[in-house]
Amino acid sequence: MTRSPQRITILGATGSIGMSTLDVVGRHPERFQVFALTAQRQADRLFEQCLRFTPRIAVLGDEAAAAGLRTRLAGAGSRTEVLAGERALTEVAAHPDVDAVMAAIVGAAGLQPTLAAARAGKKVLLANKEALVLSGRLFMDAVAASGAVLLPIDSEHNAVFQALPADFGRDPDVRGVRRILLTASGGPFRTAAAADLEAVTPEQACAHPNWVMGRKISVDSATMMNKGLEVIEAHWLFGAPAERIDVVVHPQSVIHSMVEYVDGSVLAQLGNPDMRTPIAHALAWPERIEAGVRPLDLFEIAQLSFERPDFERFPCLALAYQALRAEGAAPAVLNAANEEAVAAFLDRKLGFRRIPEIIAAALERASGLSVDSLEAVLATDARAREIARQEIRNRQ
Ligand code: NAD
Ligand code: MG
Repeated sequence: MTRSPQRITILGATGSIGMSTLDVVGRHPERFQVFALTAQRQADRLFEQCLRFTPRIAVLGDEAAAAGLRTRLAGAGSRTEVLAGERALTEVAAHPDVDAVMAAIVGAAGLQPTLAAARAGKKVLLANKEALVLSGRLFMDAVAASGAVLLPIDSEHNAVFQALPADFGRDPDVRGVRRILLTASGGPFRTAAAADLEAVTPEQACAHPNWVMGRKISVDSATMMNKGLEVIEAHWLFGAPAERIDVVVHPQSVIHSMVEYVDGSVLAQLGNPDMRTPIAHALAWPERIEAGVRPLDLFEIAQLSFERPDFERFPCLALAYQALRAEGAAPAVLNAANEEAVAAFLDRKLGFRRIPEIIAAALERASGLSVDSLEAVLATDARAREIARQEIRNRQ
């Protein structure tokens, strides 16, 4: 059977997820064609990617950088068109010639192009969990209205998706789902004493035991806010309330998550910790393709272990549950305050243990905010950042 290749836009092509996506795409040139690649700053890497994958369009954060890339690409005989700025991101995400969009920008910056892809009815491969946490219902309504296909890239949610029935309609009760069990590695400080977390440096926080990731998500893994954001992400993706989403610490990161059914069955998805598995799964879905991932050797792993999460040493996880239960704008406030606090921590302007304090203060102070429209979401995000920045200054 011959078929035309899937045309793909990769938002955040130069990041950890973006590069893993291109690794999988490059293994299957007959299946995938790159329509557009985007990056904020890393022009050198984007230049190399453009030469190898010959996208129709490349996008960089600002016009000065775009002009430089344009000149270099033209000099190398490339026909890739180079655009700049946020509007261009939305354009390549919603372009009529695009079939699938990998949403792999980090943070709220990815919201508008990801939402544009959903509104345009694309196949949306969602790595950018912050976009969903920020805009929850708005995003899911856009997917439903346009008929977009939403496939989770986050390894836990991709595992849950694989363990759910194929016709699962976001109503756990209809299909006998009792609980979603999200596994967590526990991060680099899983066994650290609370007092030792006081002096943690960005380098220590970014040294994850099992996964190599961008710096923001690495810090989120260290605070366990990553799991908190994932609880909220699971709520929106699978329609489960907070009390039916549990976190299980599983240091080996071999079971990527589980679904428990009313008959007592628990279905899990296992694999080596390598993001190319969920990426290949979503790219080819409902088919399966080779991903370059080392086969799982259970004899080498030998032991799988499980622990309860410690909500006291990792208050970010408790704050995320609190925000999910509060509903409304609380998850958006949580996400925005977390982004500001993590950025300040990476800049060495805020201590590691102050991160949850900033978020708790923002949740407490933010009031009267809405997430009913894109404009409201952006205003809520901006207001929560303002509060978070004040709180950060107060602690300097
Ligand atoms: P990263 O920092 O490695 O890459 C981020 C990408 O986004 C880069 O291409 C960068 O140029 C682009 N970008 C950054 N700021 C931007 C802005 N303001 N405007 C436009 N583009 C911008 O991050 P990552 O680790 O690849 O993570 C990407 C997303 O995937 C995050 O939301 C993260 O939570 C999620 N995710 C990552 C992993 C992982 O293993 N890395 C796993 C699960 C989910
Ligand atoms: Mg994850």
